[in-house]
Amino acid sequence: MTVSRILSTKGRAVYTVEPEQTIGVVAQILSSKGIGAAVVSSGAGDVLGIISERDIVHAIAKTGAAALSETVERHMTERVITAQEKTTLESLMQTMTSGRFRHVPVVESGSLCGLVSIGDVVKLRLEEFEVEQQALKDYIATA
Ligand code: AMP
Repeated sequence: MTVSRILSTKGRAVYTVEPEQTIGVVAQILSSKGIGAAVVSSGAGDVLGIISERDIVHAIAKTGAAALSETVERHMTERVITAQEKTTLESLMQTMTSGRFRHVPVVESGSLCGLVSIGDVVKLRLEEFEVEQQALKDYIATA
């Protein structure tokens, strides 16, 4: 299973925000779209950073409600780990586990083309387990 297969199921739309936008606006986007992170981009498919709900929690813990008026740029993670269409599910799980993050943007030829969350990975792994389990059951029934 590859990232390409995951994206063909879930779609390639990625919610992005600009570095100058405020934390309050990002919180509203994450809440209304039911997502946990947004890629920070100038809008031309580039990846300038990533901002997740965890960054917002840290910002509020540090400066209180005033953090909502601060910029994304100030609280985003700049060194973003990305994947490619050909990246395998196993490699993606390893990256998320060792990096301790739950979102990986997908970039092809320098352009953002999707985002995989830990929820997508778990959903697909469960589906794979079900298929494997059914194959084993069928095998036992006919053995
Ligand atoms: P998350 O678990 O995705 O909510 O993110 C936890 C922390 O890791 C936050 O500080 C994020 O900005 C950061 N983060 C999330 N995804 C990535 C990524 N793909 N590469 C680097 N940092 C990330």
